[in-house]
Amino acid sequence: MQEDLFNSERSGVSPSSSRAPDPLSQAEPGRPAEPVPLALAGRRRDSASRTGARPPRHLADLPLAQRREVVAGLGQPPFRASQLSRHFFGRYTDRPEEMSDLPRAARDPLAQALLPRLLTAERELSCDAGTTRKTLWRTFDGALVESVLMRYPDRVTMCVSSQAGCGMACPFCATGQAGLTRNLSTAEIVAQVVAGARALAGGEVPGGPGRVSNVVFMGMGEPLANYAAVIAAVRRLTDPVPAGMGISRRSVTVSTVGLVPAIARLAAERLSVTLAVSLHAPDDELRDTLVPVNRRWQVAEVLAAAWDYAAATGRRVSIEYALIRDINDQAWRADLLGSRLAGQLAHVNLIPLNPTPGSKWTASRPAAQREFVRRLEAHGVPVTVRDTRGREIDGACGQLAASALVSAAHEQSP
Ligand code: SAH
Repeated sequence: MQEDLFNSERSGVSPSSSRAPDPLSQAEPGRPAEPVPLALAGRRRDSASRTGARPPRHLADLPLAQRREVVAGLGQPPFRASQLSRHFFGRYTDRPEEMSDLPRAARDPLAQALLPRLLTAERELSCDAGTTRKTLWRTFDGALVESVLMRYPDRVTMCVSSQAGCGMACPFCATGQAGLTRNLSTAEIVAQVVAGARALAGGEVPGGPGRVSNVVFMGMGEPLANYAAVIAAVRRLTDPVPAGMGISRRSVTVSTVGLVPAIARLAAERLSVTLAVSLHAPDDELRDTLVPVNRRWQVAEVLAAAWDYAAATGRRVSIEYALIRDINDQAWRADLLGSRLAGQLAHVNLIPLNPTPGSKWTASRPAAQREFVRRLEAHGVPVTVRDTRGREIDGACGQLAASALVSAAHEQSP
């Protein structure tokens, strides 16, 4: 599990490890190791998950062979595992009454053993004429996570959470302010995508019935800090039915603050998913503040890991850069970024900052943004500016903070 990954790697030699307290410490979920200059910093989440109970086992946690073993243990023929899996991954249902190919008496025991309901929709918000939908989910133990479905003319992207909260404490990110509650299980991650697929297949999203074509791990959490569960989720999402959902690997993006050993490990998995690295500054001095884990793995190491990933997979790495007015949007930083990326298999995705409640930071001025783009292009670096879908429903990047949403919902109820 990821604790093992970190414990073993934390003891490894790191040139930056003496510069600051370890921002990766997950021993105290809910408390960023660094002071964070925002109102919510250090606040504890009240969640039953603090008891440490594990989410119930679900077929999406298991490879198909293990699902067969569970089914056999219930005295059923092993092929029932495939039938059950087809219902979940192909028809997006976990309801026994919809499984007419299973003997009536077997449906409930099988569903109880392998298809427990993991996520309950607490609240649903939509904008962009219904084509952007954010769902707030409550887990079995009361933790809150969010996912966002975004329908475009040519694709449907699900943005999923990999953790309840996040321990990385980036000061401009809403999720980072409240700290980490817990890792999600593989099935809790997969269930977010299946729920989106069900809504699309059922014609609930304007534009007619559709399919989920892309998955981005850009919701709550640091996916590479929940490594084992995330990798298994990628396998479930991309293995063909009935083993998984059959989404193309190339259409899956894993976004990270830059956990260097985990990037190397991901490269070795040969999963050929797209890697996104949240850089946000080309220099260590500023990145130490914006992405505190930089004190552990600095810009040069993170970029070296990214280029190794590109070499191992042949996949272009996406460099995420939230443009923050007068903080990281200076022309010289554009030039420094351009010179560090020039000639690499990379492109820059500029994200106009979504200001979080209480933050003193805001998005760059249009002229600064244009100049930033121009200078990157002058270095021959491909660059796009991300659209800011979902802003009105706090569903845009960096805006996922379930606790804030719940209190807003409560204020509105009579
Ligand atoms: N932990 C992962 C996934 C986080 S969210 C990571 O850091 O990559 C996905 C992206 O949204 C990251 O690049 C993150 O830095 C960015 N982001 C977070 N808060 C933001 C904000 N307020 N405005 C714009 N982008 C933000």
